[in-house]
Amino acid sequence: MINITLVAGARPNFMKIAPIVHAIQKAKKEGKPLDFRLVHTGQHYDKKMSGDFFEQLNIPEPHANLGGGGGTQAEQTAAIMVAFEREVMENRPTLVIVVGDVTSTLACSIAAKKLGIDVAHVEGGIRSGDLSMPEEINRMVTDSITDHFFTTSEIANSNLRKAGVPEARIHFVGNTMIDTLMAQLPKFKKPEGEIFEALTPGNYFVMTMHRPANVDQEHSLKAMIDAILEGTGGLPIIFPVHPRTAKNLQNIGITAENLLMTDPLGYLEFNYLVKNSKGVITDSGGVTEEASVMNVPCVTLRDNTERAETIHLGTNELVGTDPGKLKPYLDKIMKGEWKQYQGIPLWDGKTSERIVSKIVEAYL
Ligand code: UDP
Repeated sequence: MINITLVAGARPNFMKIAPIVHAIQKAKKEGKPLDFRLVHTGQHYDKKMSGDFFEQLNIPEPHANLGGGGGTQAEQTAAIMVAFEREVMENRPTLVIVVGDVTSTLACSIAAKKLGIDVAHVEGGIRSGDLSMPEEINRMVTDSITDHFFTTSEIANSNLRKAGVPEARIHFVGNTMIDTLMAQLPKFKKPEGEIFEALTPGNYFVMTMHRPANVDQEHSLKAMIDAILEGTGGLPIIFPVHPRTAKNLQNIGITAENLLMTDPLGYLEFNYLVKNSKGVITDSGGVTEEASVMNVPCVTLRDNTERAETIHLGTNELVGTDPGKLKPYLDKIMKGEWKQYQGIPLWDGKTSERIVSKIVEAYL
């Protein structure tokens, strides 16, 4: 029997694990000898950043919740490691699967590997080269002890080869976040509420911001929002505010009639808005992937990316964190002169099935 422990902790993890859970359930039904435990580390714990996604994406109730949220990076890493070590000692899985690049990814891979359990990293091998981002540290440490790399792109494969990872451990399978996007697309729905009623397709922007480089300094956050307001010609801008961003946003007290701030939205509502928007302005990683596949113009407010395929083949452009650079990009979107999605290899909605097949192949 192949016993898999699947780890999820923070918002972008839930979209990545949902289709893996479903693929395991399907394989199990077909008689494959495998089973899973779903462990929620509790890194994100409120309804809007966690609970709603379980409901919308049809993820079963976790078998364990480690309650590891809150505190500094080190406090959170330590709390999750201690609780996950106990979880793994009690259940002794064949394999632990971690996804993405959050604190839980790092903490659980270390705890598992030190107990002699194999680790699989979904979205392994991507690199921004920017060690000022906690996510890059999480990726590098996790990949240094990973046994099976499930990769999203040829660039990731090449990064891993350069680091000396043997070919047999690199499994180029595609992107589970896009499995979720494709599965959920028919269910996208307009959010309820007066501010959304007036929106017409192609006539508004969607914006998200949560990276420390953009939101931790009040003056730069204000300068960026001012530049966005200036470049979008008075069109409505829907801005679901990440908990990390909320406090500073309140302090700068920015108000504009067309800047429509909301709580974080559900997955189906958020992606409905992205799909029908004129363009997306973001510093998220996952959002650039989704916007690309939906062929929606996307500008990224970062100086680097670990997802270069969204630029080469997708609809994403890297603008940087200097508000002065934004205008020409927004002008292009306003004029409808943006590049089109070219298709990214293996981002076809079938990645999770490939992952489960590879695991069965490796462990039976
Ligand atoms: N998302 C959402 N509601 C929102 C904003 C984002 O459901 O209000 C989804 C989005 O579609 C994507 C994921 O959250 O699937 C991205 O998460 P986040 O930006 O927090 O993480 P990152 O991708 O930057 O690691």
